[in-house]
Amino acid sequence: MNEAEVLARGGLAATEKRVLVVRALAATGAPATPQELLATLGAQLNRVTLYRILDLLVAHKLATRHNAGERAFRYCLRTGPAGHAHFTCSRCGHTECLDSGSFGAGLDELLSRLPMQVDSVDVRFAGVCRGCLNV
Ligand SMILES: [Zn+2]
Ligand SMILES: [Zn+2]
Repeated sequence: MNEAEVLARGGLAATEKRVLVVRALAATGAPATPQELLATLGAQLNRVTLYRILDLLVAHKLATRHNAGERAFRYCLRTGPAGHAHFTCSRCGHTECLDSGSFGAGLDELLSRLPMQVDSVDVRFAGVCRGCLNV
């Protein structure tokens, strides 16, 4: 799915700047802070515009906002009908997106059996990441 298709799914027009933000989010593989996104986007976008677009993506359910206990929120693109799971390392605090894959299929099945409409799911695994295990 390209950036314009992602935006269209949320009913948003694919403006040049929105496409840049969706592309930067798609490239991270982990929830990113606005500062990290700005570092990637460089001079193509100012801070205010970035925050505005991130809020818009969250409001249209295209992105998820994480509060990982830090000063800044982290953002990632939503995937699947209800989003995807995350893993946070209890040693270094690193959070990564877990690919829908087999877990996503199980999640979709669970949701289909629930007698209510679920709009978003926040599943978070905690433990020790590969990097910290190898130290
Ligand atoms: Zn770690
Ligand atoms: Zn994520």
